[in-house]
Amino acid sequence: MSKKHDIIVLGSGLAGLRAAIEAARHPELDVAIVSKVQLMRSHSVCAEGGSAAVMQPNEGDSFELHAWDTVRGADFLCDQDVVKRFVEEAPKEILLLEHWGIPWSRRPDSRIAQRPFGGHSYDRAVFAADKTGFAEMQTLYDTLQKYNNVSRYDECYVSSILTKDNVFCGVTAWDLTSGEFLFIQGKALIIATGGACRMFGFTTYSLTATGDGLAMAYRAGLPIKDLEFVQFHPTGLVPSGILITEAARGEGGYLLNNKSERFMEKYAPSKMEVAPRDIVSRSEITEIEEGRGFPGPEGLDYVHIDLRHLGAAKINERLPMIREVAMKFNFIDPIYEPIPVRPAAHYFMGGVHTDINGATPIEGIWTAGEAACVSLHGANRLGSNSTTECLVWGKITGDEAAKYASKQKAIPSPPKAATLKDEEARVFRRFSSEGKESAYALRRELQKTMDSKVGVFRTGPELQAALDKICDIKQRLPDIKVKDRGHIYNTDLLSALEVDNLLDLAEIIISGALARSESRGGHSRRDFPARDDVNWLKHTLAYYTPKGPRLDYIPVTITMWQPVERKY
Ligand SMILES: Cc1cc2nc3c(=O)[nH]c(=O)nc-3n(C[C@H](O)[C@H](O)[C@H](O)COP(=O)(O)OP(=O)(O)OC[C@H]3O[C@@H](n4cnc5c(N)ncnc54)[C@H](O)[C@@H]3O)c2cc1C
Repeated sequence: MSKKHDIIVLGSGLAGLRAAIEAARHPELDVAIVSKVQLMRSHSVCAEGGSAAVMQPNEGDSFELHAWDTVRGADFLCDQDVVKRFVEEAPKEILLLEHWGIPWSRRPDSRIAQRPFGGHSYDRAVFAADKTGFAEMQTLYDTLQKYNNVSRYDECYVSSILTKDNVFCGVTAWDLTSGEFLFIQGKALIIATGGACRMFGFTTYSLTATGDGLAMAYRAGLPIKDLEFVQFHPTGLVPSGILITEAARGEGGYLLNNKSERFMEKYAPSKMEVAPRDIVSRSEITEIEEGRGFPGPEGLDYVHIDLRHLGAAKINERLPMIREVAMKFNFIDPIYEPIPVRPAAHYFMGGVHTDINGATPIEGIWTAGEAACVSLHGANRLGSNSTTECLVWGKITGDEAAKYASKQKAIPSPPKAATLKDEEARVFRRFSSEGKESAYALRRELQKTMDSKVGVFRTGPELQAALDKICDIKQRLPDIKVKDRGHIYNTDLLSALEVDNLLDLAEIIISGALARSESRGGHSRRDFPARDDVNWLKHTLAYYTPKGPRLDYIPVTITMWQPVERKY
């Protein structure tokens, strides 16, 4: 079945909803939001700790300081013109949400409250208790209701992006609710499909974060940038991986080893627990490897985060969800006991390559949010910069796509019917497979490989072994047998399609990581422990080829600060 819209927003997280609102402000345009989950179940609702922005320029914060923190946190791999634009736009988005009714937490003088976050040298994270993403999503959702030019395709899995002569023409999708295969034509596409952390077993991310958008973009010929930089969040709850927000340390929580020492004293004496995430994660793994951790289940050895000294009142006011999670999942009440944590896969600094406006090299396609790599975070993202990035580039891409779509007289003609048939066959081909492989078992193998060989510390031989394993799993993909043969809500088939996407992305990560013979931000090679600005101050681009990714490199934009040693 064929559908037509002017603008297709792929994904309904913070980036997608913000982009849709901006596009919908053009009443002449017909906007569609397509999401593989119910609109409000996107991972963004899980964001906890806060959104960074300069709100108090008169009390000591400044755009320059926020920019410097971001550039230093990124280990100098971010584009500094992008950082400048980000810090200047960020407060506008926070105030806009305020006007749209968000319940930001407040200071006693009733101004918007802000809390400390890792790597920021000012208390800069605006928040709504420890449910910031939920409040932001709710506010965007409410605001969206006033536009009647927006259609929704909830629970609709997009399988590919189609182009003709390097111009976007539509997406193919499988409507999970009806089982129908759709071709949704459009003038412009905004990819806002989030990250891919579910290729790791121990992760803070929702089950749905499988990087479909990145994999589709890659197959459509778009370059994927800097994917070797994966962020590990220092405080994933053991053993579930559920996030214990960085706000727990921002509010004053201590990280302790098995000798009850605040070990961050050794690694980042000036920032302690609120050093950037790459540094805290490496410190935790070092403590554990040197025997100062606690033994955990399935090799998940851990350290403690201790909130007891904060007192019940503060924990209940500022970190109510953390308390609830610790009590429900670990039967631990953080008012009385420390919480077991270790680094968990948390964020992809890389994504689809875009320019400063979120535009990709294919005409008519923009990308925003975690799926994009506009090059704001470089080699390591600072906590609380991501939700704000979603808002800032959601707005920018929504506006850019709307201006473009308004100028196009007609929706581009569809590709050949055979192309659509081929894609339908690719999606449903597993119904005819009598193979012996299970999508769930292959995903587990992938996750074990990534957890054990592509983690906080990496080495050449381990990365090579991981790449060999990924190639082996890829070869077994055609033999996946899907037991459920129905077209409606077939989560068995969905799982098979997702694992396919995750494997392509794992291959890009490992190839980029193997090539990058240096340590920078979230990419830490034991065999190349130093940063190498002479050879590696550059972005990686990965292009699809049938034989695996082809790597290329482009320069980093440096406008304000030359790289210096990164010390905290
Ligand atoms: C537990 C947790 C806490 C966090 N806390 C913070 C925080 O406090 N501050 C901060 O700045 N950042 C935080 N982050 C990071 C931040 O929340 C995310 O980077 C951000 O919300 C991503 O938003 P997004 O709009 O890019 O994508 P998402 O919210 O992940 O949404 C992706 C969307 O794409 C859709 N989609 C994907 N594939 C398909 C497909 N094939 N077909 C159709 N639709 C598809 C999904 O249905 C979904 O709607 C946190 C992350 C986690 C996991």
